[in-house]
Amino acid sequence: MTMAEVLPSTHVEFLKGVGPKRSDALVSELGIRTCMDLLMHLPFRYEDRSQFHRIDDIQGEHTAVQLLGVITSVKEVRGGKGTRLVATFTDGEDVMELQWFRGAQWIVRNLPVQKQVVIYGRPHAFKGKWSIAHPEVELLSHYEARKGDGLYPVYSSTEKLGRHGLNSQGLARLIRNVLNKLIPALTETLPDNVLQEMQLVGRGTAFRWAHQPARAEEAEQAQKRLRFEELFLLQLTLLKHKKTVTQDLPGVRFTEVGVHFNTFYHDHLPFPLTEAQKRVLREIRADMNTGWHMNRLLQGDVGSGKTVVALLSALLAKDNGHQAAIMAPTEILAQQHVEGLRELLGPMPVRVELLTGSVKGAARRTILEDLAAGAIDILVGTHALIEPTVIFHRLGLAVIDEQHRFGVAQRAKLWRKSKVSPHILVMTATPIPRTLAMTAYGDLDSSILDELPPGRKPIQTVHRTDAARLEVFQFLENQIAEGRQVYLVYPLIEESATLDHKDLMDGYESVVRRFPPPQTQVAIVHGRMKPEDKAWEMDRFAKGQAHILVATTVIEVGVNVPNASVMVIESAERFGLSQLHQLRGRVGRGASQSYCILMSNGELGHDARRRLETMCRTNDGFEIAEVDMELRGPGDVLGTQQSGVPDLKVADLVRDRPLLISARYLAQKTLDVDPDLGRPNHGTLREALETALKARSNWVRIS
Ligand code: ADP
Ligand code: MG
Repeated sequence: MTMAEVLPSTHVEFLKGVGPKRSDALVSELGIRTCMDLLMHLPFRYEDRSQFHRIDDIQGEHTAVQLLGVITSVKEVRGGKGTRLVATFTDGEDVMELQWFRGAQWIVRNLPVQKQVVIYGRPHAFKGKWSIAHPEVELLSHYEARKGDGLYPVYSSTEKLGRHGLNSQGLARLIRNVLNKLIPALTETLPDNVLQEMQLVGRGTAFRWAHQPARAEEAEQAQKRLRFEELFLLQLTLLKHKKTVTQDLPGVRFTEVGVHFNTFYHDHLPFPLTEAQKRVLREIRADMNTGWHMNRLLQGDVGSGKTVVALLSALLAKDNGHQAAIMAPTEILAQQHVEGLRELLGPMPVRVELLTGSVKGAARRTILEDLAAGAIDILVGTHALIEPTVIFHRLGLAVIDEQHRFGVAQRAKLWRKSKVSPHILVMTATPIPRTLAMTAYGDLDSSILDELPPGRKPIQTVHRTDAARLEVFQFLENQIAEGRQVYLVYPLIEESATLDHKDLMDGYESVVRRFPPPQTQVAIVHGRMKPEDKAWEMDRFAKGQAHILVATTVIEVGVNVPNASVMVIESAERFGLSQLHQLRGRVGRGASQSYCILMSNGELGHDARRRLETMCRTNDGFEIAEVDMELRGPGDVLGTQQSGVPDLKVADLVRDRPLLISARYLAQKTLDVDPDLGRPNHGTLREALETALKARSNWVRIS
């Protein structure tokens, strides 16, 4: 192959000066295989390197300096911690030392001595003289060739690549080379109207400006364009998939709002619906009557009233001759759903049953038979519901509550439970940041319950240290005297389970000592108890017989005791934000003022402080979710199991939120006029999408 034939798809191995070893390192370290991958490796920052310092005018240790001069000598110095490399550098007037503590062997062989070099790094004062540790060193001729008149791109690299001469500068040289050959061959991928609407620069310009900007503004324009392109392609993928699982998939058509829905609505609903609940129900009803398959995400903070929305949707299914399934992540929650639904339904002739792993023998057989015969209207359960032995007569709606634990694959199993896919409503109490909802759940439509039922007083949250424990306990005593109940929650994480369990038991004992029976009853629930003991203790608390419930996070999902007004969280600094928010949501369910007390002990790290501050500042789950994503990154917010966070090379879900929102909007607009991207002006876009999908296998998995 001659060098003139560098194409976007050319493997980097064939580039001049690369070869098999460097190419292997590029693949394994940065996932760079092709020339296009190389171009997509954008600088992560830019430095203004237009100025040279003199050793004499170095001001301090805080900013990096660039110097021009000559390395006059290099020596290896053996010391306590191994070999160190010391070079002497002069700018013609003064002299300073350059030092390397690692990689001495390689550097000693490659350091250009007695040649004009540009060095760059952070100076520090040592014995009254300046020196620089691990400076970048580049031949003046290379520097001149690369810098143009502009900003200096800095690329992420690794130690291994560095050993192969592919540190940031080496990468810069390689990329510069490819850039010149490739830019003429690059075609525009984005449609004209999109370019115009977003005011984006063309693709070739974008790559040129990203890697060799003359000014900061060019770098910004370039990065914006390339990030947008990636997000736009991702959204096209997700929206196309969404269409396949909705419009292209026939759904049961619920045309009728019938007697069950109406009777319940008019005669049994114990409260007027909030405006948000009404709006969401309208959205669901509209979806269920399109003839397509509904695939909807319902996000609503704890206490926003999702259950009744699920119930009314299930009644719509019944009115149209279908059954509904409600899946919850834990047995306790499933059980509570059954109780809650039966209570809401009152005397109405709607049969609700529970199916979990612990329903066995004859009871299980009866349920399965009645289910298959169509005698059960609403089946509530855990993931036991998706087992193949569970056969519905006509499943029309599947509601997945607290969905974080259910993945796309599990949702798909539900679709297969019926000849015509049942409508799917995914409910989550952990608000998902908008950008994540648009990507990890990009194939779902989204409804939001953004209004709490009336009469709720915002929960007051405070942070207290152990030093204030006496006052905290006094406060609990006062609340209990007023007839309220209290949760006291301890952290429990697998890695430190034994210690955590001991903390919990110690805590329990000291609470019992402080609040002795018979006046005060303290219940306890934790993972090492038998299920029946757990249920008995929970029940004591739910019935108001116990005043305090000491627990690990088992109660994290779904306990409803409206009389509980205080949530005390021990070692709160060890909980994640979304967990804290979930736990806090256990109180504030009744009419009385509720409190959340975050206890901590000892110094707090930066992130822990930010979490506790956020909790004290706001009750808004969406705001909390955004902070959570900032602190932990999108992957951890969704949980690692089935993370569903798209593989992105240049865009970032936290930083590029506004771009993502525009990308989704414009992707939808594009597909509205040209669903298969078959129009001639979408030809290059379609190709770009195909190429992207080949490289990003996880985009297909998410969607
Ligand atoms: P979520 O599941 O969203 O956390 P729930 O459905 O458990 O919330 O509802 C929380 C509480 O609010 C329940 O006691 C429920 O009966 C009550 N509730 C729901 N909707 C309303 C409403 N519109 N007005 C008054 N109370 C409501
Ligand atoms: Mg709920």
